[in-house]
Amino acid sequence: MKIQVIQGDSFWYYSQLSGIPLPLIIASNQQLNPNQLMIGQEVSIPGYQAVAYTIQANDTLWSIAQSNQIPVDLLLRINPNVQPTQLQIGQTISLPQRITTPIITDVNNYTYEKMVTDLQRLIELYPFIQQQSIGNSVLDKEIIELQIGSGSRQKHINGSFHAQEWITTPVIMLFLNDYALALTNHSPIRGLDMLTYFETNTLSLVPMVNPDGVNLVINGAEAAGSQQDFVLSLNNGNTDFSGWKANINGVDLNNQYPALWETEAARKPDSPAPRDFPGYEPLSEPEAIAMADLARARPFEIMNAFHTQGEVIFWGYQGMEPPASETIVQEYSSVSGYEAVQYVDSFAGYKDWFIQEFRRPGYTVELGSGMNPLPISQFDEIYQETLGIMLATLYM
Ligand SMILES: [Zn+2]
Repeated sequence: MKIQVIQGDSFWYYSQLSGIPLPLIIASNQQLNPNQLMIGQEVSIPGYQAVAYTIQANDTLWSIAQSNQIPVDLLLRINPNVQPTQLQIGQTISLPQRITTPIITDVNNYTYEKMVTDLQRLIELYPFIQQQSIGNSVLDKEIIELQIGSGSRQKHINGSFHAQEWITTPVIMLFLNDYALALTNHSPIRGLDMLTYFETNTLSLVPMVNPDGVNLVINGAEAAGSQQDFVLSLNNGNTDFSGWKANINGVDLNNQYPALWETEAARKPDSPAPRDFPGYEPLSEPEAIAMADLARARPFEIMNAFHTQGEVIFWGYQGMEPPASETIVQEYSSVSGYEAVQYVDSFAGYKDWFIQEFRRPGYTVELGSGMNPLPISQFDEIYQETLGIMLATLYM
């Protein structure tokens, strides 16, 4: 919600009025200079929404504040145009209402549009979440990155490199929502004080690396636009795209990286396909390029790529992984129950390239178990297993 600055105000005072930690108020108003607030300026207070209230007989701002357990100074600042001495019966004012439950509640068929709608709402409620586009998909959808935290330790999690593994996207989105809720309500997650992690980490999230592919799996050929005939022919005319892993060009984005790419290409399909085709050359696809550029631009200490399925965590690449990789994966394994596996006969993945390029810990985490695409009925269980890994990413 937005409030208006009155003479003598400070972010510290807003933190007192709202009960929202000062670092979150500062991070929600990065365009403002905290030392030079100007009267009439709008300030965002995260973790609240403004709801309408209709003035009844005998109401005063003081009595309304009392009965809603809100400081009257907060009520004054959210209603800058209301004259406290001239309230009219039937007049509408705004009441600050704390947000205490997640807004992400519908995780089924989690399309790109669903994610964008949820993100708009999340950023409105929690303006300390930063959103940016890191590139565009083949069908010109923005590939969205979120950042949360003001700390110097940069960590990263991504999901939905593979289209049919879209359940990984709402897992990351719900974590972002739960993190924001914990911060604004001073509520620990599994006993951990999240504000500490907010101040020491900047967590980067790309919840949907392959938006065209995800929409194809969920909505069918129509989602492919001008590429409809092309994807139908790759799919042998089958209108069920639930087995699709690739991007809309029929390139497997997680086989696109220059880390033994030739080895992978020699044994994989040599033309576009619903899965496994590594492209005619490494980094030919815009989604793969965007993710490579992101990793080159940021010193991620830890990189996690979420896939499904198998309940395993792959953590090595050709002996190039640093010693910390093993320490971290042991923690991941103990909090999730997933098995840590050092090497696997598969190359050219984002994790492989990340380890090779930066010699820092990179992981492919295979969420859940069963047949892809995993049924959404497994969501809660998968979220609980993965939550420990996402938390460990912050504290390791
Ligand atoms: Zn995968």
